[in-house]
Amino acid sequence: MKLDGMHHLTMITADARANVEFYADLLGLRLVKKTVNFDAPDAYHLYFGDEQGSPGSILTWFEFTGAARGHAGAGMIHTIQLGVDSEASLDFWEERLAAAGQPPQRGPGSLRFADYDGLGLELVVADPENSQLRAEHPEIPPEHALTGVEGARAFAGAELGADADLLTRTLGFSATAEGDGEAEYLLADERRFRWGYDPPSQRGVQGAGTVHHIAWHSRDEDHEAWRRRVAEAGMHVTPVIDRDYFLSIYFRQPQGVLFEIATTSPGFAVDEDPDHLGEELRLPRQHEHLRPQLERLLTPLENPRAGSGAGR
Ligand code: ZN
Repeated sequence: MKLDGMHHLTMITADARANVEFYADLLGLRLVKKTVNFDAPDAYHLYFGDEQGSPGSILTWFEFTGAARGHAGAGMIHTIQLGVDSEASLDFWEERLAAAGQPPQRGPGSLRFADYDGLGLELVVADPENSQLRAEHPEIPPEHALTGVEGARAFAGAELGADADLLTRTLGFSATAEGDGEAEYLLADERRFRWGYDPPSQRGVQGAGTVHHIAWHSRDEDHEAWRRRVAEAGMHVTPVIDRDYFLSIYFRQPQGVLFEIATTSPGFAVDEDPDHLGEELRLPRQHEHLRPQLERLLTPLENPRAGSGAGR
């Protein structure tokens, strides 16, 4: 039984409109679902990804309007690494980001920048083993489109090896490096994902621009077995929770990072035409009766893709 890479990452934003402008208009991801936080339905939950919202491409945000900016610290993810195809793609993005007033920092095989909330992002040349999970955007040539999430780095929240057994024996990561205040792991099945720790520099504050949790991708038929295995490793794991687009379990791992394990199915086309994903506000059944209030309360949000099916 193996995890098939990362499923999604979930962050906090103070501004849903800025979120759509940055991730859909500028970075060219597709807004694939416009729903609410199931546990706090007066807040948006927005999902971005490739054309289908494939696991491995998905970035999601809870909008807490006006939330104070936070910053990553011990036990929190500080950088999300997004794939591109080549160094030429990094040239393309260096120019596009600079033109948008977000001048990035170029390094070997890397382009670092921050989003409007201060979230750390890095474009990296993707692992050639990974399939390219692209979205379509009229200003972004397909060969330069983002290709999915390649990795993430967190500040350690405990000694570096505190979760080594959990990662390697229970979850199937391989340790690839340790030393100099860093530890690196590779999760490698059909989709590969690099997971790393840096020494903490400051105490973290959860808020806008911080990562809430990371979800790993389980094949549907393995999900119950993953729950048992994580519980047997001594983690306090939640029961299986139905998130409408996938099933989930959650546990906080020894470094302090909130881990989720999510299934492939049913996916984002379960309640919308695949050509029109993310165009209408979708509410989970238990909150459908709140629709009139929520439609008044939530900031109106236009999906840049609305009205056109594929492309714009
Ligand atoms: Zn999640």
